[in-house]
Amino acid sequence: MRSFRIGSAFGIPIKLDLTFLLVLPLFAYLIGSQISLTAELLNDLMAAGIEAGAITGGLTPWILGFTAAVGLFVGIVLHELGHSFVAMRYGYPIDSITLWIFGGIAALSEMPEDWKQEFTIAIAGPIVSVIVGLGCYGLFTGVLFLDPVETYPVVTFGSLFVLGYLSILNVVLAIFNLLPAFPMDGGRILRAFLARNRPYARATEIAAEVGKFFAVLLGLFGLFPPTNVIMIGVAFFIYIAASSEAKRVTMKAALEGVAVSDVMTPAERLHTVSPDTTVDELIRMMFSQRHTGYPVMSNGRPIGIVTLDDARDVQPVERDAFTVEDVMTSELRTISPDADAMEAISTIQEEGIGRLLVVDDYGDVVGLVSRTDLMTALDVIRSSGTEAPTAQRELSG
Ligand SMILES: [Zn+2]
Repeated sequence: MRSFRIGSAFGIPIKLDLTFLLVLPLFAYLIGSQISLTAELLNDLMAAGIEAGAITGGLTPWILGFTAAVGLFVGIVLHELGHSFVAMRYGYPIDSITLWIFGGIAALSEMPEDWKQEFTIAIAGPIVSVIVGLGCYGLFTGVLFLDPVETYPVVTFGSLFVLGYLSILNVVLAIFNLLPAFPMDGGRILRAFLARNRPYARATEIAAEVGKFFAVLLGLFGLFPPTNVIMIGVAFFIYIAASSEAKRVTMKAALEGVAVSDVMTPAERLHTVSPDTTVDELIRMMFSQRHTGYPVMSNGRPIGIVTLDDARDVQPVERDAFTVEDVMTSELRTISPDADAMEAISTIQEEGIGRLLVVDDYGDVVGLVSRTDLMTALDVIRSSGTEAPTAQRELSG
């Protein structure tokens, strides 16, 4: 996500994602172009008494649309600050609040696994939204009460429009966020309740299934005419987020207490190549040993990693002329044998690489851990139902 910082509130950086710059004018336009319709709705629902004719002339609809859109996003920032305040009170630092196409995200550096804390953090946002909605309604009744319509008709009807609109939208925002679907607050509240008498990972799995079900419902709802593209987008986003949250948490739970040294291929079983091995020889080795990645060693020190992809880049006729040194990746990503296996997975995913060299405190290569090693370990743990391979842990010390 490409985002830039626009300021900060209570020490938390507030960032705008580039997608947000598209959605703000779009919202302003949508609100501005439906101004008479919305004014009628406000008159019916809240007895606003807006004379639509007074606010549809010239630039007024666009100014009101823009003001309401900005007001909506201020409401979203306040909602995220609600989550952030409670999280900080429990001692979880907030990295940032980011506004993007689907609203706001408060990024916690660490997720609480205590159900009471998760519940309180999750509910705080919708509570703030309801309070903001009520605040707007308070101001709205204030304007109605003062009724300065004789002197400033455009300002009066305009304020009634924006305040009435925002009071409804903030309550809708609270309700929408209470949908029991990750990453909505309702999904977290559901998980918190499920985690009262279940392991956290199991609670997450159930909550994610419920979330995916709601995402499908929402998507189908959006497909019905008139087709609602934003709703389909939100449904898609919820589905992906629910799946990845479930995956992350179950992986973390399964690999609890498993170290890199438990799952790596140890140095004594590791095949290595020297930098002057030809690419042709390398490919023959890969074929006979069925490995697709080798550490490159020179004088007992690792100087790179060479993979099947690197070798494939060389044309078959040139494979005798090129050596491993010409094609290897010399930027080495290493990990300590004592690091958590989950940390290895995160690094491999973030860097988009296939394997990490395991290097001890003295700089000696003690093994290699690949994506396949980690996924196989995960499979074994899951299908055998073992919490962690303790026997192996004792062996590897
Ligand atoms: Zn929220």
